[in-house]
Formats: sequence, structure tokens, C-alpha cells
Amino acid sequence: MARRTTPTVWVGTVPIGGAHPVVVQSMTNTPTEDAQATAWQVAELYRAGSEVVRITVNTDRAAQAVPEIRKRLEDMGADVPLVGDFHFNGHLLLRRYPEMACALDKYRINPGTVGRGAQQDSNFRTMVEVAREYGKPVRIGVNWGSLDTYLLTELMDNNARRPEPRSAHEVLLEAIVESAVRSYELALRYGLREDQIILSAKVSSPPDLWWVYRELARRTPAPLHLGLTEAGMGVKGIVASTAALTPLLLEGIGDTIRISLTPAPGEPRTREVEVAREILQALGLRQLSPSVSACPGCGRTTSTFFQELAQRVSEHIATRMPEWRVRYPGVEQLKVAVMGCVVNGPGESKHADIGISLPGTGESPRAPVYIDGRHHTTLKGEHIAEEFIALLEAYVAQRFGGSGNGPISDPVESDTSKPG
Ligand code: SF4
Repeated sequence: MARRTTPTVWVGTVPIGGAHPVVVQSMTNTPTEDAQATAWQVAELYRAGSEVVRITVNTDRAAQAVPEIRKRLEDMGADVPLVGDFHFNGHLLLRRYPEMACALDKYRINPGTVGRGAQQDSNFRTMVEVAREYGKPVRIGVNWGSLDTYLLTELMDNNARRPEPRSAHEVLLEAIVESAVRSYELALRYGLREDQIILSAKVSSPPDLWWVYRELARRTPAPLHLGLTEAGMGVKGIVASTAALTPLLLEGIGDTIRISLTPAPGEPRTREVEVAREILQALGLRQLSPSVSACPGCGRTTSTFFQELAQRVSEHIATRMPEWRVRYPGVEQLKVAVMGCVVNGPGESKHADIGISLPGTGESPRAPVYIDGRHHTTLKGEHIAEEFIALLEAYVAQRFGGSGNGPISDPVESDTSKPG
């Protein structure tokens, strides 16, 4: 899959577009005026793997809080680019609070919420000029929920005069693309360089998104921020976002992504980062963390033990990754298998770097462990989980820790008898 050719836009220290990997973004849902809560959530999203984080800047107090948020992030060691999301009053806030304009790494401008009529042009120009003065990139982000109504009316009127008018929905999609393209050209005219502009045009239906982004990719060279807006909650939101993004990413369209999930009460905001990373990893576009293969389980499994083990292993890896990433370069390539019985267990485990096949119904209560495709040991008894995790730690240290690490020793007496 060939990536579309675009300029590289630097958002703080993160390159977007060009030949650079697709970047994961997220957005906070705390009031930006609350600098402490917002900085904490930004840091949490960053630690979960978000490479750029957007915050809303909607009031004077929110604008005043931005430099403090930046300072708190520095104190926490969270070196993540911050994007300011502006609507309605962005032109005023960016001029009124230069420290905020300076502290942000990118400004998001929505052409549908910068004002009406003559004001729209002047407000848009002000925001672009601030970006030019501070050397910041912008994302021109159209959203069909806040589409420029003047432009839509203009295109609807033009359509009505056609001999064979298109449907209102087709004209709506055309207006979304047109709004992004016209704003892109205007931003260039007002002094931004091509390597300072990212475009997005979000809609909430996957087929509409495919059409809109293919058009954007055809009509502009700008890097594209990809995302399904209002994707929804839970399974629906994850499936809809994956279905929407996959064809485009496979066509090489999309340089940065955000998954707009609505969190259920109590659900962590970091879920959207987790889903974005999993999509990129599943498509083979990024190798961001070790993969854990686990079978779905069936009537052959006697208990939920293997599900719990798969969960424990996944959680252990997630917890250890911040340290592993630093100590063990390349650990993202690790493949682990946790399988429920002898049918596919040994085979799948042998294909992984390290795998365990738990006993199914009627099978001998032993769990063979395979390392680099060969039977390494067989675990038994009450502490299979702890012992497998110890083997995993030893494997990671040996394989990714460079020289000086000895061979993996078995936590229990090695059983070289045939598994099963
Ligand atoms: S590996 Fe065994 S337990 Fe898992 S799904 Fe296949 S048959 Fe069922």
C-alpha cells in the first residue's frame, strides 16, 4: 500500500505526513479552565500512547489556563504536543492571549464556526496570521455538524439550476469537501506554507467518509487527519470507526487518526487511544506494542482460567511497556499466545515468540510453554500464571535486552515429555 505524497507538517516534535508513520491523536473531555484536571488527563492519554492531544480553548479562563497546563505537563515529563480547538471566538482568544498562542503546538480552525459573512473571512484570516506569526501549523477541520451554511446554500442553489440536479445528500458531501478545499487555499493566500496545514472533514457515516476523504486526497496535497465523528459508544463506536478508517488507510489516505468514542460512565478516556493504536497495528501500519493472540474458547475449555490468563498477560504487558520500551528496544515486535486447549494451542503457541497451551476438558492438567517455536517447559499446579509471566519477563530481557543476559531458566522443573 503506497502512502499518498504530502508535505511533512511538524506538530511540536511530531512529524505528520510525508513518509512518517500514521500518528495517533486524542482529545480531552475535562474543562480546560481546570488546569490540573486537564494536565492529568493529557498526561494519561500520552502515557496510553497518544502522540498528540487536543484540548478545547473556549473561554478566556481556558485560554489563560493553557500555559499552566503546558508547565504541569513538563513537570510530569509528558512531552506531548498540545492542539487548541477553537470555535466562534478563536480569533479573539489567540490575539488576546499570546502566551496561550505560543504554548500550543497547533491550532484547529473549523471554517463553519469562525463567524458569518464578511466576519468569517476576517476572523479566519486573523487565526491564520497568528499561526504564521508564531510559526505554528493549523488543522482546518470541517465537521458536517457545523458546516458553513452560506457555502451549503450556495452549492444547493447552483445544484437546483443544473439540468439534472444531484441529491441533497450528494450536495452536502460536496459542500464539506469544498469548505475544506476553499479554506486550504485561503490559508495559503494569507501566508501559511503547505507544510503548515493539515485538513480534515469529518462525517458520521463510513461510506460518506470514504467519499469525502478520497475527494480531499484528490484535490489537495495536504496531510489528512482521519476520523469518524460521533462514532458512538462501545462496540458500535469501535466497529464503525474501524470500518470507516480501514479502506482509506489501506489506500494510503490518512496521516493522523483520532477515534471519537463516547465513553460510558466510568470508562477511561484512554479507550479511544487504545482503539486507534489497535487499528494501526492490525493493519500492519504501526507496530506499537506486543501482540497477544488468544483463542475465543469453546466447549472444550473447562473454566475461565485461560481467559483470565490472557487478560493477565495483556495487562502485564500494558503495565510493563513504558519501562520495556526504554530498556528493550524492539519489544513492540513481541508475539505472545495464550491458548485454551490442545486443538490449536500448541500450533498457535509455536508460531508465537512465547506461547502457552492450557489444558482443555479431559486433557492432562499440564500447560506446555513454547519459546521460539520449540517446547521449552510444561507448567503445572496453582501458579501457572505467575510462572508463565516470569518466563515472559525472562524472554523479553534475553531477546531485547542486548548482550549480557543469560539463557532463560525454567521457573519449575522442566518437563520434556510430549505435551498434551
Ligand atoms: S484452541 Fe481449543 S479451546 Fe480454544 S477455541 Fe480452539 S478448540 Fe476451543
